[in-house]
Amino acid sequence: MQKKYLLAPGPTPVPPEALLAMAMPIIHHRAPDFLPVLDSAKKGLQWLYQTKNDVLILCSTGTGGMDGAVSNFLSPGDDVLVINGGKFGERWTKICQAYGMKVEEVLVEWGYAAKPEAVEAALKKNPKIKAVFVQANETSTGVYHDVKSIAAVVKKTDALFVVDAISALVAHDIRTDEWGIDVMIGGSQKGVMLPPGLAFVSVSDKAWKMADTAKTPKFYFNFKKERENLAKNQTLFTSPVTLIIGLNACIKMLQDEGLENVFKRHDKLARATRAGALALGLKLFPKESPSNALTAIEAPAGVDGQAIYKNLREKYGITGAGGQDKLKGKIFRIAHLGYADTFDAITAIAGIEMVLKGLGHPVKLGTGVGAAQEILMK
Ligand code: PLP
Repeated sequence: MQKKYLLAPGPTPVPPEALLAMAMPIIHHRAPDFLPVLDSAKKGLQWLYQTKNDVLILCSTGTGGMDGAVSNFLSPGDDVLVINGGKFGERWTKICQAYGMKVEEVLVEWGYAAKPEAVEAALKKNPKIKAVFVQANETSTGVYHDVKSIAAVVKKTDALFVVDAISALVAHDIRTDEWGIDVMIGGSQKGVMLPPGLAFVSVSDKAWKMADTAKTPKFYFNFKKERENLAKNQTLFTSPVTLIIGLNACIKMLQDEGLENVFKRHDKLARATRAGALALGLKLFPKESPSNALTAIEAPAGVDGQAIYKNLREKYGITGAGGQDKLKGKIFRIAHLGYADTFDAITAIAGIEMVLKGLGHPVKLGTGVGAAQEILMK
């Protein structure tokens, strides 16, 4: 027998409270008993998003939310600006190009955070830009982009500000209304602690106005029709009833903890994980602004990052993540996201120590764990 520890940046572990709630018999999505369930989910998401805007609930992975955030507010030929600092930044570009938008990119070196001045300069250079797309967390590099400062820059223009917060939601304090985020996408299998299958999209009044003139063809992700249904506590097509019941259980857990404490917990786990890695002589991949959702760690010289990831899983049952694309073999990633607490961070660091030692890298066992414990006990 090997006990499993899921410490990947999605899917993340699902708490027993949600698993039990999702074991209830299915109810019909058009029957009266489902209406309060959706009503509660809708209000819970507004609380989590810190917004008064509609938060649509879509039956798709997070990418579906990103896809709809392009097709519902823009027309083919529109100029858009993508902040691209990794694999998920690239995805914004690919989606926009697939729908025929003219994409300009603010390219950010992998491991660095986007500079608001660079975004401002690009917007000044091309006043026709209709929307700006960014990740809150660039999950492939473990960097958190400064959404607040970028929002302040975009706010000075007419452009729509669209944030992929799929891996950042719950881990970072992102203030949708206060900062002026027009569209923000979340996903169920990350900080929200659910299985994959739901995307969430908040939509501001400004974005709804743009939806009235957007000409991009669409069918499944029709946000205006979703909004009409949401007002009646329904979804456009068959609701993912079970996941929405689970969502209410997870939001209740987050509400019981309190939003501020949720962010503090993620901050502490992230600091402990980083301290553990540094104490082992490892380098963090982010050169600035490391995420609170996951820690991307460079494989030490002479050690294959994929071997670390593979050994963690095969020898010790710890599933983290490897590096993507050009970072494959160079980094490995450990999440501290959602249903994560003190001993998840300890487990991760202890596992890393044991794997590195097993791979012949010089490690004094307990060094990283001790450094993490110092932070976790404060
Ligand atoms: N954007 C970010 C920042 C992510 O971390 C992910 C998933 O890892 C996605 C988008 C894609 O989400 P999904 O796989 O749910 O479509």
